[in-house]
Amino acid sequence: MATYGNLFELLAERFPGDRSRTALETASGRTYSYDALETWSGRFAAHLAALGVSPGERVLVMVDKSVEAVMLYLACLRAGFVYLPVNPAYQAGEVGYFIADAAPAAVVCRPEAYAMMRELAPKISVETLDARGGGSLVERSRALGDEFSPTAPGGDEPAAILYTSGTTGRPKGAVLSHANLASNALVLSRLWGFSESDVLLHALPIFHVHGLFVACHCALLSGARMLFLPRFEAAAVVRALVRATVFMGVPTYYARLLASAELSREASAGMRLFISGSAPLSEEAFRRFAGRTGHEILERYGMTETGMLTSNPLAGPRMPGSVGVALPGVRVRVADEADRPVAPGLVGQVQASGENVFRGYWKRPEADAEAFTADGFVRTGDLGRLDERGYLWLAGRARELIITGGLNVYPKEVELAIDRIEGVAESAVFGLPDPDFGEAVTAAVVRGADARTLCAEKILARLKGELANYKLPKRIVFVDELPRNAMGKVQKHLLAQRCTAAGSAAY
Ligand code: AMP
Repeated sequence: MATYGNLFELLAERFPGDRSRTALETASGRTYSYDALETWSGRFAAHLAALGVSPGERVLVMVDKSVEAVMLYLACLRAGFVYLPVNPAYQAGEVGYFIADAAPAAVVCRPEAYAMMRELAPKISVETLDARGGGSLVERSRALGDEFSPTAPGGDEPAAILYTSGTTGRPKGAVLSHANLASNALVLSRLWGFSESDVLLHALPIFHVHGLFVACHCALLSGARMLFLPRFEAAAVVRALVRATVFMGVPTYYARLLASAELSREASAGMRLFISGSAPLSEEAFRRFAGRTGHEILERYGMTETGMLTSNPLAGPRMPGSVGVALPGVRVRVADEADRPVAPGLVGQVQASGENVFRGYWKRPEADAEAFTADGFVRTGDLGRLDERGYLWLAGRARELIITGGLNVYPKEVELAIDRIEGVAESAVFGLPDPDFGEAVTAAVVRGADARTLCAEKILARLKGELANYKLPKRIVFVDELPRNAMGKVQKHLLAQRCTAAGSAAY
């Protein structure tokens, strides 16, 4: 096994010799050099340390996307603070849970969330950081020197915690070590051929593995430049393609790019690579994209707990519908219920091991016991088959996770919120195929005996204050009862079939 030190040190060793080179460029054209990343991450680290944050303690970050947020991530890495990013769309109930569970030593939030944070975490230092890189964090760090050089933890020490959850709806913190992140970053940047001359068009959010680790690490490790867009917007992405060489997106982004009249061979002539992941890319999208641009999208597969596991090759056949072969140093197998590998071609549970695989969840020994097999493979919760050439073909999710626009929605959490609404007897939440979002969150609701007037608008209005927008049902149907099997389990696939058969009669 290779040994890995501190991830920031690894990245910094690979920064270009000339540190005045641009590391990130914003949509407005503002550039930030590698030098600036070094300086400001040092200042942020020094400031957080002065606030009393010690190595191993968590820093909860709920901010809009900005270059300064990347600097803050780097600050945490180099100081050994555990970076804990959360979606800035979260509401008080959701954030309160993370604060109680992870017990952060400091919080950095968007200014709009400051009052809420103060209330949720009255005893914790709270700094602000806005979408343009302003706020108390920057102001208070400005005067500090940039010679921050503590003995930086690395290897198996935690670098980040990312919350994810199974069907229970209670998010679990996946603890990712410096070694987990470093091993995956090194493999991916090499495998995908990253170099100093690359320009990565970055339109993903940075509170998730895809945008934060896969994208940023590949670029920073190779001294490349990132065009850092605040969010995905098809027109802006197509315009920026002429200046980029690599793009990473979720299938929803590709669907939107295909819908844009401006997407063409000319617009993507300077591109060398389009990468997709986080949800299944349809064969149709793969083929249409190749037809329009001349580029075959490279699909890869992974999850929060493991980082990336498989990828289609850079050189060699990219198979539409397959997520590719196991990455170097990663073992991927398909196993039966007893965790025994099955023959090629047979569908089973996808399991994996490697230095990229996490060691466990934050304070959840019972979840760890479920997550790993006796011989140390992690259960991904996905179903799939390996073909004779080692390509993995996913067959669906064992869990009921809904992936909408590349973001995960756990049905249980939405069901619990709906069930709390007066007049609701029970509910079931599931995904329906959607050309734009991949899957659309759909809710089947059973009204209580004396709640005949309960309507979808009222349910939505109630949910809005409680759940992030992307978790809200795109469609709510009322049913007399939920179909159940002999064991009393709700048969969501029957509900999905009925909805599909009934067409698009929405609320
Ligand atoms: P997350 O932990 O949020 O990254 O979600 C991980 C899950 O996303 C995996 O377990 C898969 O179900 C799904 N996923 C990721 N990449 C792909 C892909 N290329 N195709 C299909 N599903 C994917």
